[in-house]
Amino acid sequence: MKVRAQVSMVFNLDKCIGCHTCSIACKNIWSDRRGAEYMWWNNVETKPGTGYPTLWEDQEKYRGGWERTDREPRLRLHSRGGGLAKLFFNPRLPTIDDYYEPWSYRYGDLLSAPAGDDQPVARPVSLVTGDPINIEAGPNWDDDLGGSPVYGAHDPNLAAVSEAERRQLFLLERMVLFYLPRICNHCANPGCVAACPSGAIYKRGEDGIVLVSQEKCRGWRMCVSGCPYKKVYYNWGSGKSEKCILCYPRQETGQAPACFHSCVGRLRYLGVLLYDAERIERSASRPDHDLVQAQREMILDPSDPEVVNKAAEEGIHPAVLAAARNSPVYRFVKEWRLALPLHPEFGTVPMLYYVPPLLPLAADRENGCYDLGGEFFTSLEQGRLPLRYLASLFSAGNEEIIRAVYRKLTAVRVHRRAATTGDVPAGELERFLAEAGTTPEEAEAIYHMTSLAGFDERHAVPPFMREMAMEMSVDPADRKGEAGTGFLRPPKRGW
Ligand code: SF4
Ligand code: SF4
Repeated sequence: MKVRAQVSMVFNLDKCIGCHTCSIACKNIWSDRRGAEYMWWNNVETKPGTGYPTLWEDQEKYRGGWERTDREPRLRLHSRGGGLAKLFFNPRLPTIDDYYEPWSYRYGDLLSAPAGDDQPVARPVSLVTGDPINIEAGPNWDDDLGGSPVYGAHDPNLAAVSEAERRQLFLLERMVLFYLPRICNHCANPGCVAACPSGAIYKRGEDGIVLVSQEKCRGWRMCVSGCPYKKVYYNWGSGKSEKCILCYPRQETGQAPACFHSCVGRLRYLGVLLYDAERIERSASRPDHDLVQAQREMILDPSDPEVVNKAAEEGIHPAVLAAARNSPVYRFVKEWRLALPLHPEFGTVPMLYYVPPLLPLAADRENGCYDLGGEFFTSLEQGRLPLRYLASLFSAGNEEIIRAVYRKLTAVRVHRRAATTGDVPAGELERFLAEAGTTPEEAEAIYHMTSLAGFDERHAVPPFMREMAMEMSVDPADRKGEAGTGFLRPPKRGW
């Protein structure tokens, strides 16, 4: 057993309202500069939809992530030696049209236009060329299913659902959507790191944050292709790659990541997970059906004395262990089994997790009682969003995992309904809790964490060495172009 600590995030998708405050907070801090205009380290996309960059989930097109072989997982992009052969020509890159051509407006024209009979307008201009452009795409062009015959209907996850289900999904009266906020998953088996010929990308030992060294990066862009989530971006101004840094300079000065801190829905949770690094390859190699379970097994119980001893041997500080025991992420992922990795079949063992959206459930009141019906759980399969679709996103096609999550989320709602309105028929609450494999205490704890938890419960990371970190860090506001390096001199770590 090789114990490693990871600062990880959970997104409770039922609460995302698609406001993009997180994206703007991130953009203002990290990617509001030349060469980075088109980058959204945090983006929020509508599902069903093709996302940003468009069709990023289509690995036939981009060849990102890993494929399983008889022996060991292998990068989809190229073999170990094959990378060098492709160094000067890599056809698996998104083009600017797959992202979008960033633009601004000629606001100055509004003030400098000569007096006349008509209103002056601010024309859109490309932030790449400076020339006027016709805007034809944006980072969230299919927001709320806008243009769905062009975008939503081409969502690669729809391949998992039947033709009839697909038709129903886009009928006006059944239309359904949800929002998917995405940042780098700070994977345990990162495709970006494996694909980099310069060894410029690394996963920090102390917290698992994946960073690009701006000194070592040579701009080959293999990381952009190797990442199946398309969460590394090429800065056309500096000629280097960059990506989400989980706001480590903020974390090291005692602040939450900007996306977390600004989240209007308060749906993000940040905490420490301990995992067994020796199980990474095994975890990534299991058949699709077992991938989520394998990843859960990789995550270690921070209260287990054997884990605590091994962690101490590995040099993990007691403060990190204490944070791991107090981690909301551990609760969601391992104890409650509600939070799932995004596309685990990509093989990168993503270390950020999502609680799938439950979406509205149909239930009637009959004779003054909340009518749940004997077939309530079964009816989830005919829910507005097919289980198969969610399974394609969060469990590599294993529908039973999504069904189990839904059972528990529904049981929590029935538990609260019984407590607040008292119209749940006798025996029904117990039946729901039993079928979901949960207890009133656990249902109450889930309700508290998803509905009432304050900042300190949602954000439980170890105390960082604030003074030392501040002394060594460059000011991220002044030195935006250095994102990914951050320190003036190497830190003396030691928690
Ligand atoms: S999600 Fe992040 S860590 Fe994972 S492969 Fe992509 S860039 Fe690398
Ligand atoms: S700020 Fe929160 S609620 Fe708004 S889009 Fe981002 S994740 Fe969703």
